[in-house]
Amino acid sequence: MNMLKITEVNKRFGGLQAVDSVSFEVERGSICGLIGPNGSGKTTIYNLITGFYRVDSGEITFKGEPITGLKPHEIVKKGLVRTFQVTRVFPRMSVMENMLLAPVSSGESVLAVLRGSRRVNEDERLYNEKALKLLDFVELTHLRNELACNLSYGDQKRLELVRALMTDPEMVLLDEPTAGVNLTLVNKMIDYIHQLRDKGLTFLLIEHHMKFIMNLSDRIFVLDHGAKIAEGKPPEVQSNPKVIEAYLGVKHKVIS
Ligand code: ADP
Ligand code: MG
Repeated sequence: MNMLKITEVNKRFGGLQAVDSVSFEVERGSICGLIGPNGSGKTTIYNLITGFYRVDSGEITFKGEPITGLKPHEIVKKGLVRTFQVTRVFPRMSVMENMLLAPVSSGESVLAVLRGSRRVNEDERLYNEKALKLLDFVELTHLRNELACNLSYGDQKRLELVRALMTDPEMVLLDEPTAGVNLTLVNKMIDYIHQLRDKGLTFLLIEHHMKFIMNLSDRIFVLDHGAKIAEGKPPEVQSNPKVIEAYLGVKHKVIS
């Protein structure tokens, strides 16, 4: 069964067709990649799926239910969360505070979203435990009381990943989770995502790092100038001349 399905989705900004009649389906329990050159519309598609932008036309369903037009926090409640290309941790809050109180949409904390209220004390211990377990998973426990601004860029990326998991999502959209991080952490991220998928999570990834995307993805969708130009398993996509041309502007080169 598909977890996420987008059908003929369009989004225009002034004279620019940022998303041009894009359709794709992400199967439950799979890891899919969304790739394409800079400006090809990847982040805009995330903004449309997660309710940050409204579609001009087209339909988006999650677990078979239409979510088009819902607000970001309503979509989070349904079990679909995202991370941001530019990391949005709170620099003057500790790692632990980021886990517990980070707004997942305008002004609402994880706790408020989960419980539909702003009374945060009741289940605090439970959420604390959950946060510590997640921090342990990405090897950040020792930094739990550190201000987020003192974390390395790579550690901030890890924090963003596990913070998204605080809402117990069924599906996670990651926007460039390894942009600017070193190879050791890229490999760790691959491992984290494999482990999370084995626990039943579904992923959609935007990433330029080819090793990352090719290693992880069951299926890849390729965008160019807002339109989907290819779709398939990693080897199919890698050898597709249209994809090679979109990326490199030349034919007969292999993406590596
Ligand atoms: P990608 O994530 O693939 O690099 P984006 O989805 O961020 O690309 O952007 C696709 C195109 O849409 C770009 O030309 C970008 O400048 C434009 N765009 C994105 N968001 C907006 C916006 N809020 N207003 C105007 N143009 C936008
Ligand atoms: Mg982007």
